[in-house]
Amino acid sequence: MRAQPTASHFIDGEYVEDDAGTVIESLYPATGEVIARLYAATPAIVEKAIAVAKRAQPEWAAMSPTARGRILKRAADIMRERNRELSELETLDTGKPIQETIVADPTSGADSFEFFGGVVAAALNGSYIPLGGDFAYTKRVPLGVCVGIGAWNYPQQIACWKAAPALAAGNAMVFKPSENTPLGALKIAEILIEAGLPKGLFNVIQGDRDTGPLLVNHPDVAKVSLTGSVPTGRKVAAAAAGNLKHVTMELGGKSPLIVFDDADIDSAVGGAMLGNFYSTGQVCSNGTRVFVQKDIKSEFLKRLKARTEAMAIGDPMNEATQIGPMVSWAQREKVLQYIEKGKAEGATLVVGGGIPNNVSGEGYYVQPTVFADVTDEMTIAREEIFGPVMCVLDFEDEAEVIARGNATEFGLAAGVFTADMSRAHRVVDQLEAGTLWINTYNLCPVEIPFGGSKQSGFGRENSIAALEHYSELKTVYVGTGPVQAPY
Ligand code: NAD
Repeated sequence: MRAQPTASHFIDGEYVEDDAGTVIESLYPATGEVIARLYAATPAIVEKAIAVAKRAQPEWAAMSPTARGRILKRAADIMRERNRELSELETLDTGKPIQETIVADPTSGADSFEFFGGVVAAALNGSYIPLGGDFAYTKRVPLGVCVGIGAWNYPQQIACWKAAPALAAGNAMVFKPSENTPLGALKIAEILIEAGLPKGLFNVIQGDRDTGPLLVNHPDVAKVSLTGSVPTGRKVAAAAAGNLKHVTMELGGKSPLIVFDDADIDSAVGGAMLGNFYSTGQVCSNGTRVFVQKDIKSEFLKRLKARTEAMAIGDPMNEATQIGPMVSWAQREKVLQYIEKGKAEGATLVVGGGIPNNVSGEGYYVQPTVFADVTDEMTIAREEIFGPVMCVLDFEDEAEVIARGNATEFGLAAGVFTADMSRAHRVVDQLEAGTLWINTYNLCPVEIPFGGSKQSGFGRENSIAALEHYSELKTVYVGTGPVQAPY
């Protein structure tokens, strides 16, 4: 098996196996080949991981932020040196084209370690509050043991986006990757040890929806950060509320991308394609409802169709490939069912709409698909598909498109393409979303906060904001004179 790790779990600085757990087979999505066989964590493994994290955390928290940051920056350097190897592993884990993973996955993880390693010493400060003689000060303290639970679309990036701010702030972490993509996080754990991270601070355990609750319900866990779907988010938030754990929820979306008639059409088409087809459409912030103003509709669709038909679908390890398979057979079936629903409910199929015929029958491929004449009521316009399916909807004016853009339970992201900057700011001001783009789409550098509103979640990843979500304020009041007691 070409991607078999040393063992399933990484705890206290080393690989650990426990074959009493249920088997997790890791399949290469391009061929269906079994590339690794792992075991889900048993309750004993979960206990061990949390116990070592709890043991290791206080000493780590007592180090200076500069010293902690130095280790994280070293991890960033190692990730960059190993970018090719990590990207190939990410492609095997997910099926995403190497053309993408080489620029977007380990590199984004490295950015995260570099950013938080660099800013933590300056950003993790409190304040001094004068009180006329007496005074108070505040400080930011770590939460303790944090749990990270990942989705399968960006396994390495998700592990790093959670580990970097958590560790920088002085916490320990137990991370559970998605059962679909168990491999990448183990490498991140190895690299952190090589960079000098003390043992026990970043532990990886495998498992699925039955393992997650063991972590979320554990009394020694202070915080849970989940990247996943809205239904899972509801369950995890409810379980975490049992003993009032801190939570960050990075959940799903059905984001609007609005193209006004004065927009640069080629840029808007490029933005819509990036915001629907990158990572074979498996991106939470995708602008899957593309609202196009009526008078440019036919020109927009003409250029979109030509560029979509020209996309290279195939072997994800081929650097020329732009569209790889879906992550799993089940995900492909789900996406194909949505495509059939789109056809049945009367949307116009512009391009795609099925399984490509130039690829291995064993791979989980779907054609990049565009539907036009989609209406707000259609299933494909309301539910998150999480595949390469773009819905194009028509609109006439600004007020109408804002209302329709907001008419969803989700609120992860939104985008506007227009040459009129007053309108751009006016529109994003009224769109209900956590992350918004003007004249571009889906760019998420580590410097900017990322996260959702409404049912798409709460809390933020990246930027200084993430440090605040992995720490809490402690206030100290200092009396400087005698206590004035009335009795
Ligand atoms: P999922 O919700 O099925 O699973 C996410 C993770 O939660 C997995 O590791 C899974 O094992 C675990 N899990 C499932 N049930 C659990 C429970 N009851 N308790 C604890 N853990 C549990 O999501 P997925 O299918 O892996 O990923 C796709 C979803 O993730 C999409 O909805 C997508 O929009 C979302 N997503 C969001 C972001 C973001 O940053 N907002 C990023 C990527 C993906």
